[in-house]
Amino acid sequence: MISDLIVNSSILMSFTFIWHQLFRDNRLTLQSPIKIKILDGILAGILGIVLMHYSIQVNNITILDLRHIPVILVAFYGGFIPTIISAVIISIGRFIIAYNFSSVVALFMMLTIAIGSSLITYKIKIEPWKKWGLLLLFSQSIFSIAFFIVSEDFMKVLDVALYHVFSTIVGGGLTFYFVSYIRRNSELYLKYKESSQRDSLTGLYNVRSFDYFYNTMLSKTIETNGDCSICLVDVDHFKQINDTYGHPAGDEILKQLAKLLTDLTREGDIVSRNGGEEFSVLLPNCPIESSTDIAERIRKTIENHPFVLPNNLVLHMTVSVGVAAYREGIIEPDMLFQDADDALYKAKQSGRNIVCIFSN
Ligand code: GH3
Ligand code: MG
Ligand code: MG
Repeated sequence: MISDLIVNSSILMSFTFIWHQLFRDNRLTLQSPIKIKILDGILAGILGIVLMHYSIQVNNITILDLRHIPVILVAFYGGFIPTIISAVIISIGRFIIAYNFSSVVALFMMLTIAIGSSLITYKIKIEPWKKWGLLLLFSQSIFSIAFFIVSEDFMKVLDVALYHVFSTIVGGGLTFYFVSYIRRNSELYLKYKESSQRDSLTGLYNVRSFDYFYNTMLSKTIETNGDCSICLVDVDHFKQINDTYGHPAGDEILKQLAKLLTDLTREGDIVSRNGGEEFSVLLPNCPIESSTDIAERIRKTIENHPFVLPNNLVLHMTVSVGVAAYREGIIEPDMLFQDADDALYKAKQSGRNIVCIFSN
């Protein structure tokens, strides 16, 4: 019987590991989109069916296994929808194994477990481990009651019933430890990955990400002989703003400017903060005419935008923009950036609040 427990626990952990790897970026939560909840419900159902095939055969009609664990697992993370779906799939799987009194009882058992564990998830607010313990206790109680109903002489199979309770405690405990551990690791990994790519003040891409996207865009353009452009945006006389209103006010303006730049660009364009008050917009598949329009729109919108300081003071400011597009003859990766930087320099020299386009 111990070997059954080892097999069941191993199936639970290896299946949940692959499941987690597939959905690492779309982990099941109460807020997940309906599509994810349905998919997770189906997977939990399949896991339940697999577990049924490794169950303890009590007699020729009754089987005991850990099929309730995937159901309460999706109840814990995803609430009602995945739980009901998994319970229905497991019940169908049980009918396919055999249609008899036990499988009818099993249908009611699974539905009771699904509804009850969803209610526990929504209604009871306690620490995760305690809630998991409660879900295990509830689902095992229903399973044991169902087993009692289908057993002709329960005392004769009491040892199996107790072993089943023991398996739930061990298998369920191990599964929850494992799942919460891999989920926590993934959350940390994604958080660190995100913070290594983003600028902490504005949330835009940082200069490291900019380098990556810039090189990718350029090599794709060279490969396909297509178009791409870059705009460098630099705030005019930003030092004066800092000196007059203070550094925190300057920070607030940079944040609002970042939001404006994001709103003004298309999906697929990459907006980064390349340093201090210097921003860039990478425009893939964008010839010079369109990028000039975008740059002019950026300049004009910023000129007319009322920036609100933390003390509610409204301030206006301007930016200078340098634009360059990919041209034949660009062989060194840095050349496109250098062209845009030259154009930006020209814009500053020409009196600021202006868009300059690189021409050689
Ligand atoms: P120009 O029109 O020639 O671009 O003048 P400028 O004053 O904008 O340019 P300069 O390079 O002289 O000054 C940039 C200023 O940006 C200096 C620095 O204090 C400020 N700055 C850089 N990073 C930050 C930041 O994170 N927050 C704030 N508030 N200011 C910053
Ligand atoms: Mg500046
Ligand atoms: Mg600057």
